[in-house]
Amino acid sequence: MNKIVVNPIYIILLCLVITACQSNQKSTEKISTPPNLVLILADDLGYADVGFNGCQDIPTPNIDRIAKEGVKFTNAYVTWAACGPSRAGMLTGRYQDRFGFSRNPLFAPNDPNQGLPLSELMLSEALQQAGYKSAIMGKWHLGAHPSQRPLQRGFNDFFGFLTGGHKYFPEEWTLADEYEVTSQYEAYKTKLLRNDQRIEETEYLTDALSREAVNYIGQYKDQPFFIYLSYNAPHGPLQATEKYLKRFEDIKDKKRRTYAAMVSAVDDGVGLVLQQLKDLNLEENTIVVFLSDNGGPSHRNGSNNAPLRGRKGQLFEGGIRVPFALRWPSQISSNQVYEPTISSLDIFVTMVAQNQGKIQLKNELDGVDLLPYLKGTKEGAPHETLFWTFTDRAEIAVRHQANKLIMGDSLPQLYNLEADIGETTNIAMEQPGLQKDLVAKQQEWLSQMAEPAFLGLLQNKEYDKLHSDRFKRPVIKD
Ligand code: CA
Repeated sequence: MNKIVVNPIYIILLCLVITACQSNQKSTEKISTPPNLVLILADDLGYADVGFNGCQDIPTPNIDRIAKEGVKFTNAYVTWAACGPSRAGMLTGRYQDRFGFSRNPLFAPNDPNQGLPLSELMLSEALQQAGYKSAIMGKWHLGAHPSQRPLQRGFNDFFGFLTGGHKYFPEEWTLADEYEVTSQYEAYKTKLLRNDQRIEETEYLTDALSREAVNYIGQYKDQPFFIYLSYNAPHGPLQATEKYLKRFEDIKDKKRRTYAAMVSAVDDGVGLVLQQLKDLNLEENTIVVFLSDNGGPSHRNGSNNAPLRGRKGQLFEGGIRVPFALRWPSQISSNQVYEPTISSLDIFVTMVAQNQGKIQLKNELDGVDLLPYLKGTKEGAPHETLFWTFTDRAEIAVRHQANKLIMGDSLPQLYNLEADIGETTNIAMEQPGLQKDLVAKQQEWLSQMAEPAFLGLLQNKEYDKLHSDRFKRPVIKD
């Protein structure tokens, strides 16, 4: 019998080929793993109050890293000019007006209809179907009734508070639970919740939320996860610790100084989250998104929306166009500035697209998958047309391409945002045909929307009269 002699060099080559195949397989596996999502929402942050949008007096190096290592959006919108409905749109991928969430919800733990209807599929619920674990830390604002809380809406963990805002210092959290609340804003003083339990917390609120985000990333690291870091900063009340205030001794205006300190605390938190992703080797396949839920209420918290006109609560750009950055190293290149129009609605759809076949949608979506646009495989704007309402449709705005029409109590206002980002020159009189077209678009869109499903913040007194039991512990029937 002939003995087969194998040249050792072939064995070495074979080993190299096997190793290459294995590592190739590994990288394929990595890409086929759905991405994690870390969604960082600031509250009432001005358009101009992050470094990546040119802020000079408040350094935000960590938030800026998201934009630098990914993409910054210059025409990014939220779906409402204030807190609750903006969140409802972002977390369902649908105009919240479609399901009547067109008022800022009241804190009413007794009322199952005061919040996000169960007919809607939330991002956390969609991702749960795809095997994700989700945690929210911070502001919920989508319903305080036990049937509407985060753990009932696809989140595995919750650390935070249920209403639209909160005090920042632990010594002011004097109410044991929501049933001790006797008026709308007293809910700002409840002890924090961890899941269903009220807890004792000793840290400044923003720092506590950042700490929890870091911890949950650590806990969830072995399967796809969604971290919703829903800071209430820099929403009022304006409260900051000495640690952060000391950084801004040069700012003489007290309001702006405290605001700057609060933003700086958020930036520190973002830094801790990014470091945790790096330490756990999760950077490549984690989408990090940073945005604000609406524009800055500059008259209240010292925020700055320049060069945009207006502020929170208005349909001028300062109310609805927000600082927005996204990083996803394995898929999109760094240092991008993306100018076409996008929306907070797109976060939901982008995530669904990464989990195709695993998510059973309930309703029609209004967002767009951003990935092909950011990779450059799809051209044009993700949205040709976007719509907004305010104060029960007393005001309605549409942006179609560069033109934006605001209809309300005063004369129609038409602006070309490419030529006039500050909405200074009303061209409605010069462009009657365009105005007519845009009014028709508004009406067509409005005809698809629902009536408001609940009384909101502006009807607080009326609601009190109708629901004297609003803060009572609800009786839950099996
Ligand atoms: Ca807000």
